[in-house]
Amino acid sequence: MTKITGFETHDVRFPTSLTGDGTDAMNTDCDYSSAYVTLFTDSSLVGHGMTFTIGRGNEIVCAAIKEVSKRLVGKDTEDLFSDMGSAWDYLLADPQLRWIGPEKGVIHIATGAVNNALWDMFARSRKKPLWKLIIDFTPEELVNAATFRYISDAITKDEALALLKDKADGKAEREKEVRKLGYPAYVTSAGWLGYSDEKIVKLTKEAVAGGFNHFKMKVGANQADDIRRGTLIRSIIDDPQYLPKGVAPGDPSSHSLRGKNAGPTGAVLMIDANQVWDVSEAIDYVKGLASIKPWFIEEPTAPDDVLGHGTIRRALKPYGIGVATGEHAHNRVVFKQLIQADAIDVAQIDSCRLAGVTEVLSVLLMAAKYGILVCPHAGGVGLCEYVIHLSLIDYISISGSMERNVLEYVDHLHEHFKNPCSINPQGRYNVPTNPDEGYSIEMHKDSIAAYEWPSGSYWAQKTSE
Ligand SMILES: [Mg+2]
Repeated sequence: MTKITGFETHDVRFPTSLTGDGTDAMNTDCDYSSAYVTLFTDSSLVGHGMTFTIGRGNEIVCAAIKEVSKRLVGKDTEDLFSDMGSAWDYLLADPQLRWIGPEKGVIHIATGAVNNALWDMFARSRKKPLWKLIIDFTPEELVNAATFRYISDAITKDEALALLKDKADGKAEREKEVRKLGYPAYVTSAGWLGYSDEKIVKLTKEAVAGGFNHFKMKVGANQADDIRRGTLIRSIIDDPQYLPKGVAPGDPSSHSLRGKNAGPTGAVLMIDANQVWDVSEAIDYVKGLASIKPWFIEEPTAPDDVLGHGTIRRALKPYGIGVATGEHAHNRVVFKQLIQADAIDVAQIDSCRLAGVTEVLSVLLMAAKYGILVCPHAGGVGLCEYVIHLSLIDYISISGSMERNVLEYVDHLHEHFKNPCSINPQGRYNVPTNPDEGYSIEMHKDSIAAYEWPSGSYWAQKTSE
């Protein structure tokens, strides 16, 4: 019998504001940060988890993580693993902590870090990467690991079970295929608002040469600038001369590209406003960007405004521009409503804004039932390491489809992780295969020692300068 005996948190902050990485219309000086937790047991088994913030306030999340983690101390790990859905309910059920949510804000993202740490521990205990642990579940086991509270009007446990049984036959084949090909990715690093035109040109050419054919650009600070930057990116991604040697242009009318406003080489451009506009402003502004042919506008307005997203989606439909959101959708209920209101084309789940793997599974099941594409949010620090697992679970066990999906990839800060994610020469995520990597989120001890706020060696030196 193994029991959880304690935990440790770390407030880790990286000085990304110095380089303009991560800048968009809303977030202008981000220090990518990790509110990091390790759960310990009375054996050598541990579980690592984190949630992402962009700097100040990370200590508040760490304080909340401590409160949530306390609930697990003394618990038997096998009891928790045998019913991860109930373990999740239990984590959320503290009546006093619930009041400071419920299921939103600091307490919810803290719960995400803890739930993810528990899943990491579960995967390590079975010597499998997290995605493999879950795809090897029977349909019944997977349904029991999810939560259906507050979403049974959109999907019942029985419907989820039927959906998973329907997909069970092809699992082995899909696992084999994705291990060989990798999972499709898109690149955001070229289009941060804080970058110069020269830097954008250089990074876009590198991304095309790296095999990518979906690109995202930040918009919303100045429409004329956005048109100029978008036209610049389009001039590169639409030009066959930049394609890697031996790669033929994609067919914009093919199944994987249809409806995505793809250019002549099959390249797709997405735009992201990070919530800067009111609803009518969003509509007017994005109509003005129709010439750069975006597939979708991401986060056009307040992330809680379900009906506003629906209004924007209907207004932009005649222009062939869709709507995507989700990185700030604080729980599965928001996704349920976005789907019920026909407000989105693409669900962008976040691995640690939702309260961990358990709640993500519920959203993946809903999205599969309603045929909504899932393109998880990544970037930041640690998010790419997390989300490849989630997209693999979605493809192999739940939706059974990956050809129209793309998983965000940002080439920042991977060196701080023991099992960093990686991209193959075709611009696709490699499949994590180390049996000891769990959820791939374990950070190097040296990185924590250097970047722990405010006493880590990097920050201590900065403040003494
Ligand atoms: Mg975004």
